[in-house]
Amino acid sequence: MFAINMEDAKKELKIPDKILIFDTTLRDGEQSPGIALTVDEKIRIAQALDDIGVNKIEVGFPAVSEGEMESAKSIGDLGLNANVSGLARVVESDIDAVIDSGLDYVHLFIGTSPLHRDYKLKKSKEEIISQAIRAVEYAKDHGLTVEFSAEDSTRTELNYLIEFYKAVENAGTDIINVPDTVGILTPATTRKLIRTLRKKINIPISLHFHNDFGLAVGNSIIGVEEGANQVHCTINGIGERAGNTCLEELVVSLKIAYGANIDVDTTKLFNTSNFIGSITNIKLPPNKPIVGENVFTHESGIHVDGILKNVATYEPIPPEIVGHQRRITLGKHTGRASIKSKLDALHLDVTSKQFENIFKQVKTLGDKGICVSDEDLKSIVITELATTGKEYIKLLGLNVMTGESVSATATVRLSIEVIF
Ligand code: MN
Repeated sequence: MFAINMEDAKKELKIPDKILIFDTTLRDGEQSPGIALTVDEKIRIAQALDDIGVNKIEVGFPAVSEGEMESAKSIGDLGLNANVSGLARVVESDIDAVIDSGLDYVHLFIGTSPLHRDYKLKKSKEEIISQAIRAVEYAKDHGLTVEFSAEDSTRTELNYLIEFYKAVENAGTDIINVPDTVGILTPATTRKLIRTLRKKINIPISLHFHNDFGLAVGNSIIGVEEGANQVHCTINGIGERAGNTCLEELVVSLKIAYGANIDVDTTKLFNTSNFIGSITNIKLPPNKPIVGENVFTHESGIHVDGILKNVATYEPIPPEIVGHQRRITLGKHTGRASIKSKLDALHLDVTSKQFENIFKQVKTLGDKGICVSDEDLKSIVITELATTGKEYIKLLGLNVMTGESVSATATVRLSIEVIF
């Protein structure tokens, strides 16, 4: 039924039996310019994330502030199903902060690219590897699960990157994470990088991609096609600069289009996206995939006519799959079928002449750039019905009170015969 059958296309891929979702809305997402969450807000977000079924939640960076420490502790105490992770540099005090906050999962990181080594850290390749190994050993000695990121890995020499990841693997790291810190990967380079790492690394591989070129979701999917086991995501794709891999888009693409095994409940995505949008005050464009206002809204006559006959004609998936709703709006692209279905839904009977007049008025308003709401349609219909000479609206009483030093008030009593 598809031009290219997914099962055929998948034969050449190495998609793991299970893909884990590591949510970093509370860490990288919170690093978006303009977002600062209170402890209480972080707790509510963590509960919402756990409720949709993400496997891991990165709560923040416990060493950076008292608030971060407090939110890590409080979220750790919630007894969530998800693993709760804290970020730490490769120094004992940062790892201690994760331990002190009561978490048992640490996300360690150190920059490995020449830019980070020479300018930020001023350390040699060897020093960076030995500091990383010491940190892994320290964290493992304290019973932590360790995820390790070679920050700016995608601008690190490939041989050194492999050497680095092998070293932390041998030191006891549980999962390596591959951060595309400044979002420079492309589908081609992602495929080659993850294919190479998958051959060299024996522990699970995680991806942490940024969306600077709008490729974060696509690149993450390619990484999964090459055998990556976990993806870092944020709700609504929030995060540093252009943001991170968008959770809703990634999960729906992998779960629905690829049939991948992911624990996230897609039917809660629309509500969760709205919740994060309002708590972070970052509004989404209406054409945002999966959760945008327009993605299940139809206006054009040809499309609505198709939708009314069979919804699949112009929808890739039914809106219920992501907890969204189908809407039909009226405007200049509207066809007769849309108006007919709206009138039927409102139980309004009109003659064919009245129908043509209503249709014309909707088009005229649409041409002026107006989106005709259900309320607008009702008043157009009432006006049109009134032209038949029958009084659909009767004035039963009018009382006006006014004066020099009082607010004017009016009471109007109407009898309306049209029932909506
Ligand atoms: Mn990041």
